[in-house]
Amino acid sequence: MSSIAAVNNGLNFTWSGHLVELAECAREVGRIAAQRCDIQEDSWLIGTSREFSEQLARLGWLGMTWPEAVGGGGRSPLERFAVFEALISEGAPVATSWFADRQIGPTLLQYGTQDQRSRWLPDIIAGTSAWCIGMSEPDSGSDVASLRTRAVRSGNEWIIDGQKVWTSGAASADWCYLVARTDPDAPPHAGLSEFVVDMRSPGIEVRPIVDATRNAHFCEVHLSGVAVPADCLVGTENGSFSQIMRQMEHERGGIDRLVSNRRLYDDVRPHAATSDPLVRQEIAVIESSYRLGRLMVLREVVGQSPAGWSAVTKTWCTEFEQRVASFCGSVAGAEALLANRVSRNIVYAPAYTIMGGTTQILRDIIGDRVLRLPRHTVPR
Ligand SMILES: Cc1cc2nc3c(=O)[nH]c(=O)nc-3n(C[C@H](O)[C@H](O)[C@H](O)COP(=O)(O)OP(=O)(O)OC[C@H]3O[C@@H](n4cnc5c(N)ncnc54)[C@H](O)[C@@H]3O)c2cc1C
Repeated sequence: MSSIAAVNNGLNFTWSGHLVELAECAREVGRIAAQRCDIQEDSWLIGTSREFSEQLARLGWLGMTWPEAVGGGGRSPLERFAVFEALISEGAPVATSWFADRQIGPTLLQYGTQDQRSRWLPDIIAGTSAWCIGMSEPDSGSDVASLRTRAVRSGNEWIIDGQKVWTSGAASADWCYLVARTDPDAPPHAGLSEFVVDMRSPGIEVRPIVDATRNAHFCEVHLSGVAVPADCLVGTENGSFSQIMRQMEHERGGIDRLVSNRRLYDDVRPHAATSDPLVRQEIAVIESSYRLGRLMVLREVVGQSPAGWSAVTKTWCTEFEQRVASFCGSVAGAEALLANRVSRNIVYAPAYTIMGGTTQILRDIIGDRVLRLPRHTVPR
């Protein structure tokens, strides 16, 4: 009786045969593609491949959920979830198309003009354009509203001067989705606008930054007198702040935040000493945490999460990824001190709870916007 009621209420977690087949197909495609990569972990961020991007397009896996009228696949969010959970879990190099597919396309669909959509969406769907995100600046990471890169209107153009930092994929990107200050006299959060900037524009200098794992996927981007056509401003002039918040929902609530090092876990787990009760308990924690994280992501994906909940999802999922890195280190034992996949992931893991908003900031958001905790001074 109770299970029938659950199904009737829409709470049936069983996947249709079609979704299972799609996920299996994506897993096979991902497995083959990952074999060509030196590193399978964090493939949505550092696994760049123009060739694979075009393969994804041929399979119809870019812009999957976007309306057919703009060239998208018109498919369901669950289908997209099934594909990318499988691809990223296998370590497939999806980074070239990931930012555009995850958040730039949806942003253009929501805030862009018809002309902007026709200009940029077809190349994203064809897998032939790579995008980077220019939000963070030196001294303006968590507090985006404090950013200082300026855009000044001059005739039919905006002239941009300033500096971005930690810009993932900037060295190989064709376009940058960039936030700049357009009204210096307005309150900090009310004077920002968003631009699509051609990375080949004169005045742009990209300097890759070598991270602790010796990878150089993120960069400094210096902008000096960069002219951007006026019709490259996306959405409302000086109205970027609410647009950024919407974009962050796409950035924080997805499956990429849960499975960055899933492939490593799958490879290391068979070597764990499972007769040790403490090891068994840790595996139980990891497996149950994974399933809980997956349910949170699924709720985001089908649009049923409360406002601001992506902060909870990202916090849970990225702390989970750090736990996975640490578990893999304990299984490897002293070998984790050598330069290998396990040590690389341990060194990389702190980044999980920094990128896309730090855990401290996200917990502040949870307190303020999700739990609406009162702020008052406790009398002494
Ligand atoms: C791997 C990686 C990839 C990235 N890719 C991109 C990218 O493509 N594009 C882009 O724009 N940015 C990118 N970033 C930057 C990222 O968004 C910022 O690092 C992040 O938002 C934190 O900003 P910050 O580094 O300036 O740290 P800060 O904001 O200076 O914070 C430093 C510390 O202080 C804490 N803190 C700050 N303010 C508060 C507060 N009010 N309450 C409590 N604690 C606080 C933070 O939690 C943190 O621990 C990337 C970062 C990483 C690690």
